[in-house]
Amino acid sequence: MQMDPDYYVTGVRSGSRKILAKTITLIESALDAHQTLTARVMERLLPYTGNSIRLGITGVPGVGKSTFIESLGMYLISLGHRVAILAVDPSSVRSGGSIMGDKTRMEKLAIEENAFIRPSPSGGTLGGVSRKTREATLVCEAAGYDVIIVETVGVGQSEVSVASMVDFFLLLMLAGAGDELQGIKRGIVELADAIAVNKTDGDNIDKALNAKKIYENAIHLFAPSEWGWTPRVLTCSALETTGIDEIWTMVQTYHDTMTATGALHHKRQQQAQEWMGQLLEEGLKEWFYQTPQVRRLMPELTNAVANGTTTPTAAVKKMLNAVNIH
Ligand code: GDP
Repeated sequence: MQMDPDYYVTGVRSGSRKILAKTITLIESALDAHQTLTARVMERLLPYTGNSIRLGITGVPGVGKSTFIESLGMYLISLGHRVAILAVDPSSVRSGGSIMGDKTRMEKLAIEENAFIRPSPSGGTLGGVSRKTREATLVCEAAGYDVIIVETVGVGQSEVSVASMVDFFLLLMLAGAGDELQGIKRGIVELADAIAVNKTDGDNIDKALNAKKIYENAIHLFAPSEWGWTPRVLTCSALETTGIDEIWTMVQTYHDTMTATGALHHKRQQQAQEWMGQLLEEGLKEWFYQTPQVRRLMPELTNAVANGTTTPTAAVKKMLNAVNIH
């Protein structure tokens, strides 16, 4: 691994895909020396970041995410955009396998010069995967990609995480897939800036239009976001590439309006601050458990709590006292 920050900074800025990929590998490395180098590289790339539309996409496996991203990506390239596709897949953390599958997805995009596809980092916690994807987003921006698509699967906490790192969060849904309000119950719709009912084609068109109405009614139960945006419901067919242009027009309208009002800047500031808070909490926790005092006290106090010879409150107080933070 190259250890000279110039190598990465110059390579990324010059648009080298190879060095862009290597920089993301560096970001993903757990080695201390690599993390230190990452921080130096990121600091120097930071002035060149922020100039993209960051779009999050979610939906249950099978809803058509990769087909959609391929269609949207090809459309964006035809408009002259450069598109980076990143992923947050928690299943790659847990099992080493991935719900999103391997690299055979998005075959057309994969060979486009103006597309860069990076699968989900694997290993570590969701927090770790999210950090890497956030930093990869910035590096792709510094490399001149002006649309960053972050994909995640419709399970678990990964959606909350992706929603908090993008400008616009799009939820793909299906018509007639059992409980129409499934996503709404799980609270994911509250994160969404829009729902797209995919597979609106063939025999499915009537069902899809009906689902659109149901989702529209449901989505109006939620107040407009704090940024003044009222979520919308659209239909599309990723396979037949219909409705893709309308979805993109909507994302752009959102972006233009939010930029003009200053809301986008504000949203990104808030996301960065929240992210800092999260990192701080994670860092504090990690540091705390590794202090010699806590490592020494933890086993005996855990036992004492189990045996009922001390209370959890007293045990925690003792450990906090031992490291002098309380
Ligand atoms: P993912 O798991 O969400 O990434 O879903 P995929 O993109 O892999 O799609 C799952 C299946 O649905 C594949 O067989 C696709 O060909 C199909 N599919 C995706 N989009 C559409 C669509 O718009 N219409 C139809 N009829 N099938 C689609």
